[in-house]
Amino acid sequence: MNQYQYPNQPQQSGEKPVSPVQPAENAQQPTGRRAKAVRYCKNCGEQIEPGASVCIHCNMILNPAAIRKARMIVADRNATVTTKELIRCGIFPNKGFRIAKQYAKTRPQVAAPCKKAAIIGTIAWTVLLATSIIVLLFLMGFFGAMF
Ligand SMILES: [Zn+2]
Repeated sequence: MNQYQYPNQPQQSGEKPVSPVQPAENAQQPTGRRAKAVRYCKNCGEQIEPGASVCIHCNMILNPAAIRKARMIVADRNATVTTKELIRCGIFPNKGFRIAKQYAKTRPQVAAPCKKAAIIGTIAWTVLLATSIIVLLFLMGFFGAMF
């Protein structure tokens, strides 16, 4: 059955069809699905919109999941990354890469700098390790020549 069918639309042929856009004056109150959709606030008893997350009369939270989701969206949008956190992402590149992956879609303004810091950190660690090996080899050669 077409869910958009207007309640007072004639079911049998012969009657003049009523336009869904401009209901007739004698249009009856919607029945079935639409009638059930009318909701009342559990707290104050006032009538509220079927999809309402908060009662407009008493501010009672009616849909905690929707409120949490909305708060999360705001938190994602406002999320920032501190210099301290970026330094940590550089020192521990795997941590930086993990954050970058975790927030790639929800917090790109956090993910991008963390990834950058992790890449710089990886390069820095590689250079440091390579330099250490070269210095060590040099010292071994130096002491080897002495004795
Ligand atoms: Zn209420």
